[in-house]
Amino acid sequence: MKRAEDLEVRGQTVLVRADLNVPLGAGAITDDGRIRASLPTLRDLLARGAAVIVCAHLGRPTGDGYAARAAGGPSLRPVADRLAELLVQPVTLADDVAGESARVIADTMDAGEVALLENVRFEPAETSKDDEVRGELAGRLAALADVYVGDGFGAMHRKHASVYDAPLLLPHAAGQLVLAEVAVLRQLTTGPARPYVVVLGGAKVSDKLAVIGNLVGSASPHPTTPASASPHPTTPRSASPHPTTPPKADRLLIAGGMAYTFLAAQGHRVGDSMLQADQIPQVTAVLADAARAGVELVLPVDHVVADRFAADARPEVVPGPDIPDGTMGLDIGPATIDLFGRKLADAKTVFWNGPPGVFEFPAFAAGTRAVAEAISAVSGLTVVGGGDSAAAVRHLDLPADAFTHISTGGGASLEYLEGRELPGLAALEDGT
Ligand code: ADP
Ligand code: MG
Repeated sequence: MKRAEDLEVRGQTVLVRADLNVPLGAGAITDDGRIRASLPTLRDLLARGAAVIVCAHLGRPTGDGYAARAAGGPSLRPVADRLAELLVQPVTLADDVAGESARVIADTMDAGEVALLENVRFEPAETSKDDEVRGELAGRLAALADVYVGDGFGAMHRKHASVYDAPLLLPHAAGQLVLAEVAVLRQLTTGPARPYVVVLGGAKVSDKLAVIGNLVGSASPHPTTPASASPHPTTPRSASPHPTTPPKADRLLIAGGMAYTFLAAQGHRVGDSMLQADQIPQVTAVLADAARAGVELVLPVDHVVADRFAADARPEVVPGPDIPDGTMGLDIGPATIDLFGRKLADAKTVFWNGPPGVFEFPAFAAGTRAVAEAISAVSGLTVVGGGDSAAAVRHLDLPADAFTHISTGGGASLEYLEGRELPGLAALEDGT
């Protein structure tokens, strides 16, 4: 893969696909980690005399056509403002993605200037399954620039126009963030130092069954729900960036919303907790695979529950794995914190994705804090992946070097660990 730092960019217009998909609360950015992570590549290109056009998505615009989506938002306006503050220079926000406004800006930009295109998902073509539809948008994007730099790691697992099709139309290279992410994930997939402990939490088990299947050595990934069952049709490639069968974990600690489906599969009561009953057969198969492969699968042994999903709900510790009717599990309990701490103590490699509790509510954040602290005490490679996990960690005020690496990519890092080829990476690897 060619490095953006090796490109001669003086006097060129560079289209940078970045991942600026930050969490918003009441229209304000609640965690700017992804914007900060995009800065090294942007600063390098600008310092070396490029005009930089940044392309990114934000949230999930809905609506049939461009007009409906643009009207519904979210606009990248707050991101443009924050990017300007961090770069300490003006950032021009185009009124559209790759239309008249973007074209005029691209034509009149000078070296050292930055522009941001509007939310690329205002264009329904961005996420189209139809190659020609995506290709048309990719053509309009490519026409804005001389060179393409892929640096949006968090979107690399998407076969989208700005991620996969646009780089094929221009000379292209990988940005610093993407290269750093891949370097760390490659360590996880090629002979991690053992014990290799994986902590998975978060919301839906269906999102993460494929990676769990890999980590416990399931022969073939268990089928997931239709929503998440869209494997990317990818071309086989000899220079594959990582092996297709990633190494198994020694231990898998499961918490968060997904743990209740595992507990239900074992016959425990889960009350009103988050449960994906339709996933119980797959989860049961995963439990059997783990047992067969000798992968230790650790589930919560107690809980913090409440009678409703709210910040001001009263937390109550429930000893034991069963959750009483009329209550829901919102965090792991003290015995589980203790257990997970012991299971992490001798780890040499840790990958953590998904908060073990509803950390957004302070009364239910203790489990997330404790797991973060236990992982930060590990002396070895420690990687945090996932948008919400990374945001949670950054809010904990741990020392800057608490983890080896905080990945900006949730789905992208999981798919990499599954051994899947990421379309965005594949496109950047192709010659030119
Ligand atoms: P990531 O973005 O790090 O991959 P996910 O998106 O999978 O993580 O999940 C994050 C969400 O999971 C958080 O918003 C958190 O509140 C939620 N969550 C964690 N534990 C629970 C629980 N017990 N019940 C419901 N939601 C939970
Ligand atoms: Mg998330």
